Amino acid sequence: MRARFAPSPTGFLHIGNARTALFNWLAVRNAAGEFIVRSDDTDTERSTAEFARDILDGLRWLGIDWDEGVEVGGPHGSYRQSDRFDRYRQVADDLTQSGRAYPCFCTAEELDERRRQAREDGKPPGYDGRCRDIEPAEASERRAGGEQASLRFAVPRPGATTFVDVVRDDMSFDHESIDDFVILRSDGSPTYHLASSVDDVDYGITHVIRGEDLLSSTPKHILITEGMGATPPTYVHLSLLMGPDGSKLSKRHGDTSLRAYRDAGFVPDATVNYLSLLGWSPGGDEEIISRPEAVARFSLDAVSKNPAVFDPQKLEWMNGAYIRAMDPETFAASLQPLVEADLERTLEPAEMDVLTLMAPLVQERTKLLTEVAPQVRFLFGDPVYDEASWEKVMTTDEARLALGGAAAALAGVDEWSAAAIEEALRAMLDSLDLSARKGLQPIRVAVTGSSVSPPLFESLEALGKEQSLERVKAAAERVGSSDTVE
Ligand code: GLU
Repeated sequence: MRARFAPSPTGFLHIGNARTALFNWLAVRNAAGEFIVRSDDTDTERSTAEFARDILDGLRWLGIDWDEGVEVGGPHGSYRQSDRFDRYRQVADDLTQSGRAYPCFCTAEELDERRRQAREDGKPPGYDGRCRDIEPAEASERRAGGEQASLRFAVPRPGATTFVDVVRDDMSFDHESIDDFVILRSDGSPTYHLASSVDDVDYGITHVIRGEDLLSSTPKHILITEGMGATPPTYVHLSLLMGPDGSKLSKRHGDTSLRAYRDAGFVPDATVNYLSLLGWSPGGDEEIISRPEAVARFSLDAVSKNPAVFDPQKLEWMNGAYIRAMDPETFAASLQPLVEADLERTLEPAEMDVLTLMAPLVQERTKLLTEVAPQVRFLFGDPVYDEASWEKVMTTDEARLALGGAAAALAGVDEWSAAAIEEALRAMLDSLDLSARKGLQPIRVAVTGSSVSPPLFESLEALGKEQSLERVKAAAERVGSSDTVE
């Protein structure tokens, strides 16, 4: 099996295309075949290096690797369509020589005008075949005389193209409804139909797995492929993704680029797991399925033709499940770049130890990796006090009492551990007759800057005695509780 992913670098990697790439990859790895990634960059105006980079980065982030193609190389040259225009022109020439394609001299304005007229007359607006009957000798003469021409495929009529799609079974397209489509524009650039078909033949692709939006292009690709004397590959058209409301997935439903999910703190394994279930199922109600298991059990025959729903909330739920299942070191390591970005500096090794110590405490309730950096910021620099939390929590008599009491109690803790800290603070609360709720919250705000934080005693332990004391004392002074301390 040789399958390919063929993105056009005209936008960021779309979540639907990421799913197409994944289904290709799962099918190939299951069959121990070869996976090829090429770049469909014939649209030189809209293709950019930034989009190309984003797409490959996205694949790598997902853990999708390829055996041949862009950046990896292989026996077929560059794997970028923009480098292969000569090859496409050569095939277009061959198709013209063999009578399967012909030059069309109609200008864009003429075609527009005839389309408009056809619409007015209630006729189909497609190309009317006007240049198909021009004698080859005359056509050559006109081209030699400098007249611009595109090349069109001469679709045989009457006739039909039929094929068996792995997902959608028997497909048949009557040639009456297929125009003589352009394969080479008058500027010599190939259309998608030509470039894609030539690449699939040249690269020995056995399975074309792609979105259903390209289904109507397939008979054209089969005609070109057969025109080249090659056997068409097996086609697999995946249903399109829908939003939870049942309409085609679009920006209205939230982010549609993979990078948005990367940036939001999703982890690759959860994303792969979730995407793999969009149209495929390992059977039963199983939802959490590891990557190796998905590879072992994936089958194109089990792919559904029903539209699949992409639900970001479900993905978030799954992400939480994967985060909880991570071992603490891996979790801390995946937090490191996010914490460093948040702090705008790198973490010292000792600070990395602190992060590793805290990681299991926040892991349990984290759904997105990005939730964590703001929660652990207080460990790596002075807290920024949230004025609303401060007003709410710090301005009561109980707060004044608790902060003064905590400064004294913490100063007396010798062995700085969460357990010893808890014991000292609870004894202080008892002696001052303060409830845990009223008495601990001011300490939390003093130390972390916020009333929402990881568990308090462990936070104090991780922060260290000196820092903890300093912050509690400063807060006590700020609320004027020093006179209540004996
Ligand atoms: N380059 C096409 C696209 O991004 C896909 C080509 C194909 O899979 O045949 O829509």
